[in-house]
Amino acid sequence: MNIVTEPVTEYLDSLYRPANDFLAELRRTCEEQMIPIVLRDAESLILQLLRLQRPERILEIGTAAGYSAIAFALECPEAKIVTLELSERSADTARENIERAGCSDSIWVLGGDARESLARLAAAYEAEGKETGQPPELFDFVFIDAAKGHYQEFWDGAAPLMKEGCLVVSDNVLFKGMTASDQFIPERRQKTITNRMRSFLRFLTQTEGIRTAVLPVGDGVAVSIVGKAPSAR
Ligand code: SAH
Ligand code: MG
Repeated sequence: MNIVTEPVTEYLDSLYRPANDFLAELRRTCEEQMIPIVLRDAESLILQLLRLQRPERILEIGTAAGYSAIAFALECPEAKIVTLELSERSADTARENIERAGCSDSIWVLGGDARESLARLAAAYEAEGKETGQPPELFDFVFIDAAKGHYQEFWDGAAPLMKEGCLVVSDNVLFKGMTASDQFIPERRQKTITNRMRSFLRFLTQTEGIRTAVLPVGDGVAVSIVGKAPSAR
């Protein structure tokens, strides 16, 4: 099911304005080819968060065709973006789209399982820190948008790469309503993913040092700030 009623989604979509013609065309192509892509209302929210956070380094988990990474690059032209994609084929498509969008200098697509890429990145950062004696440049914006059963692992893998005050946006956390209630779970096999997502949202909302708003936007978006609350400092 849609977590927002259809007439409301339609209305919100009527207010949506694509960032430019290239992205409008890429969204059309992705939708036609059933390539997963951030929903319009979720995109509007995330771009607004980027305008507030002004990140210098963005980490994305789940590239697909590169649509969201390109949208981030256009919004934050100074930012360095690393995006992780399991499927080598999708990673290649993303690289082509990024090239066509003129964003190759700011977006790096790393193919392979994000859990492994994150472990490699964390090890490289640690080594760099030791070598230079300087703290490595960490990410101040993270977008988690890949396999829904693995969000906790993605978070744990990305955590050592997050700067204090890092904003983390997790997409599809309400998973067509399934996270909220078993009545929306059509098949048994979705039960495991759903349980994992519930446990991830408990983690995001109940852990000291993470402040999270879970929003019924798109397919559910969790917006987390990582770092001590001012009162706890
Ligand atoms: N962020 C994209 C959409 C991503 S769709 C956009 O809005 O434009 C989710 C992607 O995550 C898929 O392309 C899928 O191949 C990828 N994915 C799934 N599991 C993954 C993993 N373990 N590591 C990296 N990518 C993964
Ligand atoms: Mg998504």
